[in-house]
Amino acid sequence: MRPSTDDFQLIAGNLALDFVNTIGDRLGEAREYLTSSAELSRWARLAGILPPSARLSLTPRQVASVRAARADLYRLFHPIALGASPARRALAALNTRLLTLAHVRRLRWRRGTVNWEWRTSARDPSAILAQVFSSAAELLVSTQLAQVRQCGGEHCGWLFVDRSPAGRRRWCSMADCGNRAKARRHLAAVRRASR
Ligand SMILES: [Zn+2]
Repeated sequence: MRPSTDDFQLIAGNLALDFVNTIGDRLGEAREYLTSSAELSRWARLAGILPPSARLSLTPRQVASVRAARADLYRLFHPIALGASPARRALAALNTRLLTLAHVRRLRWRRGTVNWEWRTSARDPSAILAQVFSSAAELLVSTQLAQVRQCGGEHCGWLFVDRSPAGRRRWCSMADCGNRAKARRHLAAVRRASR
């Protein structure tokens, strides 16, 4: 059976971090999930930033640029998750992206509320990236930034916002890395007992 982190999961509590988590076992033998335009579309639909019937039609080069954008975000949030400061360059990269992606969003008044509206085109990853990077910016200026953590799984490397009441969430998901750690501890205890 494939481990559940072998597929897209929305466990981070933030769109930008869920996007960063589209690699499995990042700290070990990494598995790439954003392998094609179809897979990127599937993730965006799951994440609720593309309508259920929408499908992107991106070139392999565009998909590669989406992965590069993801790497930028990881460089920004990974040090923060470890309690360190991000490199100034990583923040500058986000500022540049926010500038270049500003044209795909506009404020729309609808039924008494104002929301961002994103202009999507199937041949342009901008609308997806603009939503992801906006979400990253919102997280950076929010008090939740202090709750960004890295999963304690040996090779996992997934990031999330710890919203647990006690602030002691350790795993991306208990069903996955949490259970694996439990199984490892159990095995170690059995070995000790049999010595
Ligand atoms: Zn994990």
